[in-house]
Amino acid sequence: MEDRYEVRDITVDRATGVTVVFGDDMTATYDLLELRLNCPCAECRGLRDRDEAPWPKPASPLPLAITDASLHGAWGLGIEWNDGHATGIYPWESLRTWADGGKPSFSPDSGRGV
Ligand SMILES: [Zn+2]
Repeated sequence: MEDRYEVRDITVDRATGVTVVFGDDMTATYDLLELRLNCPCAECRGLRDRDEAPWPKPASPLPLAITDASLHGAWGLGIEWNDGHATGIYPWESLRTWADGGKPSFSPDSGRGV
């Protein structure tokens, strides 16, 4: 694997976002809202395909926050949100492409499914 797709350090701030240090020393910060709106799971992708926002829903607690985050193998980061949503897994490779100025695009096999 290329250095740029390896992850050296991850800082999760439950109220603001996630900071990732990649193997080539590039540091990227992902805003909480951006992460939630681009959640890679099938459900959120379906909503975006219909031009509907994955968040907030009528019952969503405000403000948005992360309740838990965990490594999903060497592959990506699983995030659990304070509205109970936890199906999205954010692959490092996609996060890096996003940080490099690409669009946040997650491959169809991202996410745990529903
Ligand atoms: Zn989702």
